[in-house]
Amino acid sequence: MPLKTPEEYVQSLRDMPIRAYVGGERVASIVDSPLIAPHINTVAKTYELAHLPEHRDVMTAESHLTGERIHRYTHIFQSADDLVKKIQMLRLLGQTTGTCFQRCVGLDALNASYAISYEVDEAHGTDYHQRFRAYLAMVQEQDLMLAGAMTDPKGHRARRPSEQDDPDAFVHVVERRPDGVVIRGAKLHNTGGINSHEVLVLPGTGLIPGEEDYAIACAVPADADGVTFIFGRQSNDSRKLEGGCDIGNPRFGVVGGEAMVVFEDVFVPTQRIFLNGETEHVGTLVNYFATWHRANYGGCKGGNADVLIGATAKMTRVLGTDRNAVVKDKLVEMIHMNETTYASAIGASAMGYALPCGSFMVEPMMANTVKQNITRNVYQIGRLSHDLAGGFLATMPDEKALDNPEIGDLVRKYHTANPDYDVDERIRLGRYIENMTSVTTLVEAMHGAGSPQAQRIVMLGQAAIEEKIAMADEVINGTDDVPGLPLPRRTAEVVD
Ligand code: SF4
Repeated sequence: MPLKTPEEYVQSLRDMPIRAYVGGERVASIVDSPLIAPHINTVAKTYELAHLPEHRDVMTAESHLTGERIHRYTHIFQSADDLVKKIQMLRLLGQTTGTCFQRCVGLDALNASYAISYEVDEAHGTDYHQRFRAYLAMVQEQDLMLAGAMTDPKGHRARRPSEQDDPDAFVHVVERRPDGVVIRGAKLHNTGGINSHEVLVLPGTGLIPGEEDYAIACAVPADADGVTFIFGRQSNDSRKLEGGCDIGNPRFGVVGGEAMVVFEDVFVPTQRIFLNGETEHVGTLVNYFATWHRANYGGCKGGNADVLIGATAKMTRVLGTDRNAVVKDKLVEMIHMNETTYASAIGASAMGYALPCGSFMVEPMMANTVKQNITRNVYQIGRLSHDLAGGFLATMPDEKALDNPEIGDLVRKYHTANPDYDVDERIRLGRYIENMTSVTTLVEAMHGAGSPQAQRIVMLGQAAIEEKIAMADEVINGTDDVPGLPLPRRTAEVVD
């Protein structure tokens, strides 16, 4: 059965000579880097849970290519039920790790490439889809982790890719050969990129005729010649090196271990190219990816918020405020926001519909609404957590103060609240809350899967305002003999 164990995943990374820089220095092995290890541990959990019988239904799926049981992270969505199970999987993983588990970008990029390669072939008689199916079969068989690489550096934001002073501001083809292409450029904010087996490179924005060199979708092994990863910093990342009660989330990372990946004249063979110059399909490709990924946030952030709500609720016990009605009401508010986004993600999935290739797309209005709410609710849930945990969050003593024989007792004495809990426990909870409500986590909720305005543009385009005006006219001014005005079916088409 093509399901890697966590140990096999880690060993497979050890076997890859990935060129990576952390803290400005080249690392000999990403597996042995203490700053990357928490992110590898998080992904290892996604492999581990797929082997547990109680999670088999949500963590695995039947491959439509081979009929074999595969990891859901390598699956092409075959039904609305598949989409629902994906959201359930994300909530489970969020609850289990309390952070981002990274594999969803690759999954959605995989699905977007599957769908668009079919549509380009239909329009142009090309053979991208067969190539992609062969690649997908390899990914499923080897249970690979994929990084979806979408976000270009973009350069001057008021200029198109073809108008940039530096053409490398967007990944592009610099040479076309009979056996493949050579690409150059970089992708930013690459979730899980540094600990992935493969990088699925897709355009990050719609393109126009004349921008054919930027219309490239392809798969690159993470250890290919010319590929370099540069690890980003996160809030409090060096706390991972300290140990003790200051770490926050001791086993797993904070957010997705995002990295910049640079492509310095990387050769991509033909069988790994899934779109090459067909600019008119790029907008749809980007939209497919973004729509799936925006629905995800109701699942993963839901699971993360479950842990945060749990940490906050326990903190109120540590403080002795847990029986206060106002405290309980604030917890309810956190729960309400969290369940609202989860419900929207489940709704977007349950209302999924078939694309031309036969795979399933989430309902776009609800998917975009999920992400729009996440850009607010994650902040608001964090605000309430800060409110309930108190100013202690900003002034907590550290492990070293507790351990100091001269002052340790004083620190404990004056930070003890409910004597049923020791001060170490209070700090451990505080550090987790600090991690999950600090800059990296909040900014990821704001901009991951597209900045808030990107969702609002889609929502307005999908809102059928003219039909709503017609409904208002009918209700207010109409007569009974006018037929109903059902809303048109919404699709994930490109909306300008
Ligand atoms: Fe998955 Fe959520 Fe992380 Fe995106 S932010 S990769 S959806 S866990």
